[in-house]
Amino acid sequence: MENRYFEDKLNEIKKLGNLRALQCLYNNGSRIIVENNEYINLASNDYLGIATDRELCSEFLESLKQEDFHFSASSSRLQTGNYEAHIALENRLSELFHTEAALVFNSGYHANTGILPAVTTNRSLILADKLVHASIIDGIRLSAAKCIRFKHNDYQQLERLIQQAENKYDRIIIVTESIFSMDGDEADLQTLVKFKQQYPGIMLYVDEAHAIGVRGMHGLGCCEEQNVIEHIDFLIGTFGKALGSCGAYLVCNKIVREYLVNTMRTFIFTTALPPINLKWTLFTLNKAVMMNDRRSHLKRISDLLREELPPQKINIQSNSHIVPYVTGSSSAAYDVAKEIQKQGFYVLPVRPPTVPEGTARIRISLTANCSVEDILKLINCIKTLSIQ
Ligand SMILES: *Cc1c(COP(=O)(O)O)cnc(C)c1O
Repeated sequence: MENRYFEDKLNEIKKLGNLRALQCLYNNGSRIIVENNEYINLASNDYLGIATDRELCSEFLESLKQEDFHFSASSSRLQTGNYEAHIALENRLSELFHTEAALVFNSGYHANTGILPAVTTNRSLILADKLVHASIIDGIRLSAAKCIRFKHNDYQQLERLIQQAENKYDRIIIVTESIFSMDGDEADLQTLVKFKQQYPGIMLYVDEAHAIGVRGMHGLGCCEEQNVIEHIDFLIGTFGKALGSCGAYLVCNKIVREYLVNTMRTFIFTTALPPINLKWTLFTLNKAVMMNDRRSHLKRISDLLREELPPQKINIQSNSHIVPYVTGSSSAAYDVAKEIQKQGFYVLPVRPPTVPEGTARIRISLTANCSVEDILKLINCIKTLSIQ
């Protein structure tokens, strides 16, 4: 009986051309093998090439001692799962960011679904960019706060909403990503900081999932690049993308850290990350800080691709290593992706509801593993597509 319902729903998804399936993949440097075909991987979040760097893995493994072999924390951090590896990673984060404190979570999804409900009440207001990640949306859903979404990067509208909200709420939290995952464009963090200084009761919440490792002199993200770290109340990033590991962090003040340790449900009611994994994260974090060569290579190939791609009918202005090639309709995105794949590049179509109706696209995500030659070949491939 229940199966019937699920089957019907699946058929609806299939009819819309949106049915997805899991594939068994093998990642090898800049290449990915999918069902025995090898492609240049343009759909990876391994932006610095750390996750696929065999030498780094070996160096890490050789640095380990027998007593480091803890493959499970076996418990929540508040029970018996808080290892030295957690503390070391958090200390290093707060040292790098020059903040009072840091807190590590099991994933970006845990961070975003846990922090927002914890730090708001039913008298709070969340003002969130229209394009924030699904994990942030779920965090908003779990919170008691009122939420208004402002048009993507539309700070005039945001300022109007702030003015209308003045004195009506216990706090106003502005929520944004720094580099947006689907458009590859950036938030203007300095403007957000100005709002915070100008209007009372504002706190800033910034998710740097796509910028950590990639931006800033030490790879600490757009907040480092735009020189605003100290002004962000909740500065979040993840370890699963450029840092080649898993988990997430928040850098913040001591009070916020202590408050979250005591109230944040996705922190309290889950088994902590395995200590061995936290050690790997600390290792890759320290490496990433020094990877200015990989950062500038990534910038170089991203600039090249953005400058050379045929102009778009729909105006989406990426200025990062995430480069959308907008096709408009879902079926065009699917067909174009297939054609590009046939020429040896692994790109994936992104369709509604992940992106707004009419803006289906190929999301090209570059990593430092890609060579200039790879990018030149890709540009040529896109310029000579039979479907446009
Ligand atoms: C990937 C991503 C997350 C989720 O992080 P995980 O560690 O993979 O759970 C959160 N926010 C943004 C903006 C992301 O792109």
